[in-house]
Amino acid sequence: MTAKDRPRPDAAAAPKARFPALLDRPAQGASRPAPAPALARPQRPLHEAARDAARRTPPAGLGLDSEAVRWRMVARLRAEGIGCEPVLQAMAAVPRHRFVDPALANQAYEDTSLPIGQGQTISKPSVVARMLALLFDGEQARRSGSLGRVLEIGTGCGYQTALLLRLARQVVSIERVQALHERARTRLAAPEFAAGAGSPRLLWRDGRDGHAPLGPYDTIVAAAGGDALPPAWIDQLAVGGRLVAPAVDAAGGQCLMIVDRGPAGLSWQRHEAVRFVPLKSGTE
Ligand code: SAH
Repeated sequence: MTAKDRPRPDAAAAPKARFPALLDRPAQGASRPAPAPALARPQRPLHEAARDAARRTPPAGLGLDSEAVRWRMVARLRAEGIGCEPVLQAMAAVPRHRFVDPALANQAYEDTSLPIGQGQTISKPSVVARMLALLFDGEQARRSGSLGRVLEIGTGCGYQTALLLRLARQVVSIERVQALHERARTRLAAPEFAAGAGSPRLLWRDGRDGHAPLGPYDTIVAAAGGDALPPAWIDQLAVGGRLVAPAVDAAGGQCLMIVDRGPAGLSWQRHEAVRFVPLKSGTE
């Protein structure tokens, strides 16, 4: 990806900070920049989503299976500054409406988060696009044009997993809620989701431990945020690899963290404020 392709709106508000490459002190850094003011909200209250669903009707003249509906979403993302072509192409190809309850399908291409059951939500498209574009800006991905071997924490409904299958060589995705894991597995087994990376390896377990047997990973992405980045994720990041995940910042809010592993060690960057569901321990 060229500099021109990088997502622009947040770039100015995304000061780079190099941190000591110490796994036991990722949250340290008196020299950290102040948090970016904009607050992206990948999730929103379930009652709001349900209320909006009851009010809306499908886009006139366009079935949800129409590629045109998805291209409209992609055009909006592009207009908002997402310039990473592989990500936009993947989002144009994957039918988001197939990952949500049919009652909410008519909202699937709006920039909104939606409930996926078990008290969880699918992140809004602009946030998914932003995270994937940040991942594509990692050293390995820029060099190879692929996210390589990916570890995803928080399979949820499997939408982002389906996108990753188009952008990576191999995808390992972990979900702690069994019901979500099973549903994502059934859904992603459909031939329409078969893509470049083949079948994803879906695991039901606590993703804070990562999955060392299939690591190290060129790309690690989490859709749930805790107080600090679990050390296992950093350990399982390959040289040249990039991790993007929400984590609590010094002010107690949540922001997107990027960790790159270069030949000389780790570097950390803090990006915009976000609000993801909590990274929980154990399974259910
Ligand atoms: N990318 C997902 C987003 C789902 S929301 C999608 O497209 O639907 C975040 C998910 O992270 C939830 O499903 C939640 O159950 C899961 N999660 C939270 N803590 C986790 C953990 N420790 N390990 C694995 N998954 C976790």
